[in-house]
Amino acid sequence: MKTICIFNQKGGVGKTTTNINLCSYLALEGYKVLAIDMDPQGNTTSGLGFDKRKIDQSVYDVLTSDVSLKDVIRECQVVNNFYLAPSTMELAGAEVELIAQEKRESILKDKIAELKDEYDFIFIDCPPSLGFLTINALSAADSVLIPIQCEFYALEGVGQLINTIQLVKKSLNKTLEIEGVILTMYDARTNLSNEVVSEVKKYFKEKVYDITIPRNIRLAECPSFGLPIMLYDDKCKGAECYENLAKEFLKRQKGV
Ligand code: ATP
Ligand code: MG
Repeated sequence: MKTICIFNQKGGVGKTTTNINLCSYLALEGYKVLAIDMDPQGNTTSGLGFDKRKIDQSVYDVLTSDVSLKDVIRECQVVNNFYLAPSTMELAGAEVELIAQEKRESILKDKIAELKDEYDFIFIDCPPSLGFLTINALSAADSVLIPIQCEFYALEGVGQLINTIQLVKKSLNKTLEIEGVILTMYDARTNLSNEVVSEVKKYFKEKVYDITIPRNIRLAECPSFGLPIMLYDDKCKGAECYENLAKEFLKRQKGV
């Protein structure tokens, strides 16, 4: 079992889109995958077709009471082998509620440990912030996957991102590694995208995935249908790229 945290404190860079689509292609390959939605926005939850108003127990209860992950995990209705620990707006309150709790940074880690080896991969979708929820996710993870949007300010905030990872490594999770960097919303028609790619490669070197994710309108449409791209339009460029990204992810696990 490997736990991967999808992290970038910048908003709207493709964390959730990567989470949903990478997980679903890994599940399609036969791996048993769990996505934990650590974002009060609950975009992974709704993007997989769950109605947030109908969720009685969520990651919020896992973090703030003795409810276990097993109690809240649901089978994704549309993809086999794919499971979700859902989130709702309530999760935003966890930060304040747990202020005085001892070991509050490692609650998620302890709850994941209870799952033993039930899943091949666990992916944690982080909110765009550096608070308690993100720190819990980074503390619980074996590695961090960083989506970076191909835009003018792409590297802005990367210093802070690396600092956060270093801090967590020093104090809470010594073995935390960088899994990889994924360039998202790439537009081949602009020089800017190409410049961003080379800048990011200069910084992260071989950690940068060969597969980049293009800007693709179908990827933006599918969450409103509650479907991953492979079920919404499996022939589009976005689907092809996420499928290849899953292949590259698996190849990198084997170290080839
Ligand atoms: P947040 O920080 O708010 O959680 P995020 O990093 O999870 O955001 P997403 O929600 O995945 O980012 O993406 C932001 C928006 O861009 C969404 O509306 C999504 O549908 C759209 N989007 C993501 N990836 C692509 C893409 N490759 N092409 C086109 N649109 C995309
Ligand atoms: Mg998100």
